[in-house]
Amino acid sequence: PTPPPAALKQVPTLCPYCGVGCSVTAHVDEQHNKVVWIDGRDSRVSDRRLCVKGRYGFDYATHPQRLTQPLIRREGSYPKGPLSSALRVREGRRPGGLVDYAEVMPHFREASWDEALDLVAKRLLEIRERHGSRALAGFGSAKGSNEEAYLFQKLVRVGFGSNNVDHCTRLCHASSVAALMETIGSGAVSTTFRDIENSDVAMLVGTNATSNHPVAATFFKQAAKRGCKLLVIDPHRPQLADFAHRYVRIRPGSDVAFFNGVLHEIIRRGLYDRHFVAERTEGFERLKATVEHYPPRVAAQLCGLDEQEIVDVAVTWGSARAAICFWGMGVSQHVHGTDNARCLISLVLLTGQVGRPGTGLHPLRGQNNVQGASDAGLIPMVFPDYQSVKDPAVRGRFEAAWGTTLDPQPGLTVVEIMRAALKHEIRGMYVQGENPFVSDPNTEKVRKALAALEFLVVQDIFLTETAEFADVVLPASSFFEKTGTYTNTDRRVQIGRPVLKMPGAARLDWDIMCEIARRMGVPGFEFTRIEDVFAEFAGLTESYRGLSYETLGLEGKLWPCADPEHEDGQVVLFEREFPGGRGKFVPAEFAPPHELPSPEFPFVLTTGRLLEHWHTGTMTRRASALETIESEPYADMRPSDMEALGLCDGDEIAVTSRRGSITLKVRGSEAPGLGSIFIPFCWREAAANVLTSDALDPFGKIPEFKFSAVRVEKLRPP
Ligand code: SF4
Repeated sequence: PTPPPAALKQVPTLCPYCGVGCSVTAHVDEQHNKVVWIDGRDSRVSDRRLCVKGRYGFDYATHPQRLTQPLIRREGSYPKGPLSSALRVREGRRPGGLVDYAEVMPHFREASWDEALDLVAKRLLEIRERHGSRALAGFGSAKGSNEEAYLFQKLVRVGFGSNNVDHCTRLCHASSVAALMETIGSGAVSTTFRDIENSDVAMLVGTNATSNHPVAATFFKQAAKRGCKLLVIDPHRPQLADFAHRYVRIRPGSDVAFFNGVLHEIIRRGLYDRHFVAERTEGFERLKATVEHYPPRVAAQLCGLDEQEIVDVAVTWGSARAAICFWGMGVSQHVHGTDNARCLISLVLLTGQVGRPGTGLHPLRGQNNVQGASDAGLIPMVFPDYQSVKDPAVRGRFEAAWGTTLDPQPGLTVVEIMRAALKHEIRGMYVQGENPFVSDPNTEKVRKALAALEFLVVQDIFLTETAEFADVVLPASSFFEKTGTYTNTDRRVQIGRPVLKMPGAARLDWDIMCEIARRMGVPGFEFTRIEDVFAEFAGLTESYRGLSYETLGLEGKLWPCADPEHEDGQVVLFEREFPGGRGKFVPAEFAPPHELPSPEFPFVLTTGRLLEHWHTGTMTRRASALETIESEPYADMRPSDMEALGLCDGDEIAVTSRRGSITLKVRGSEAPGLGSIFIPFCWREAAANVLTSDALDPFGKIPEFKFSAVRVEKLRPP
């Protein structure tokens, strides 16, 4: 029985899902160790608002499938991997919504922490000894705290001895960050999402915010109602198009052509900010020469549009008093993702729409702490605060701080690590809180790569699909059980506070990392308080200077906030200059996607998220309310495309690409473009990434999740 509200403990904390980072109050039944309900909390971020995940998605933390004891793979259960999901994905069978514990658990035996941690340290050291530092790699987590991300990358760099450390930013905004670093010298947003309250024009490109950043989307809708003109550009029609001044459905993969057309028209009409261009930028003539070849008539042909649509967007943006640009993975998840982002940055620089209230660049971050994990150096090319591993002076500072010599060579990225594992160049991996078997492109390749590893340790709260390949599984802590700081899409650093007790013998993630480091003989992990980890991280990260647990309070603070007395940190960045000095125009030429539709594969597949399910579903598919609302895999197609294939709502279809095939149901929707199909990637039983390609953007090294050529066929009932 639920105790009366008066008997519940109220804990101010955060939502564990998306990068909006909503503030919540958890109402906790301490006697039964469970969250009873969650409310939105007053804050600068979310103003008491929550979406369905934040409000109802909390009971995963007390799901009976939580891991409570370390597990070690039994002798003889090799080769690794062909357990439930791995085998069935390969064979095209559908195993149901969750890993079948009854089937998988017999391959493991329970172990003590001492035995499991000793084995992890011994095997990692053996591989390092035999095959060298670069034969080891780690995937950290954007769901963990800043402190966990900092410790994880430190362990890989100092303990493993290489920079082979990455996380899901590689699948998300790596191309945006590459373009931002190159052009303005900072990968972070230039202002908060609520700054749209000061904008008269807002461009939303490749973002389905009502599903992926739902509370931010409520502020976007309010801005539209107030009179802010929303320009929504997306091949997949998002719900925010209903609120748009103009919705433009470009052809998938044609972003560069579209924005070059817009840039061309703004320059031709003299709608750009000559003073800003002269004083704050460089490379204008090169940009002008490139976009000269994209008059709206030409760009419109490449994008499948009427040229007037391009002209209207150019005039609306070019005439704005204060214009802001938001973008999502529709921009970044392409082999031309960096080029796409370069075009958006050029648009903002050309019109001087940055550095003032209501203006700026805002790549909407996905995970609750993907901004912080990146800030903390969970990236193979940079130490904390985006400091290059190749820079001898930077490396010297970290070597002095960490008391060791560090690898000067940038490490491998997520997909590159999998490729290296296939070639036996990576032999051992530590995966903390990520599920690459479901999240990474080209599942069959990932399956072979994970199975090829000599040693894999997975640290997580559930036996994930990736953990099925592990030699050792370490039971970790959920968001609701730990203290840590998390940095939202706005750069706001907030404290997540513990609400529940950990189940069984599960341990705090940062404590597990420190234990592995100690057993590997790696110095610098003698922490006893999470606050001390934060202090070490902030001491090496200029952006976080002035922030501490003492000063963050209930609302957190934006970085930069060098003055601990400052009320909230800096909202608008780059008022006078960019970290890289002048903003650089980096023009881009249109090029087609990696693979194109053909008679054999005539449809374009895009993948993405659902409102109710988060990424690979590890948490949300164990949240009872969310799984009740959306419990079955489906694909979205345009009704006219369905009719042409003789399909009705609810029919079973097979979707096949050059890499594999899955079966699932189809629903009619006006969201996908004609000739396109949308499949959420949260379903393990119809894993969209079986179909996707691992072709990469050459700069951001991000895969092209937003464009795969596929065939769609109706399955006849047996
Ligand atoms: Fe959580 Fe994001 Fe929803 Fe806010 S918008 S409640 S942070 S999932």
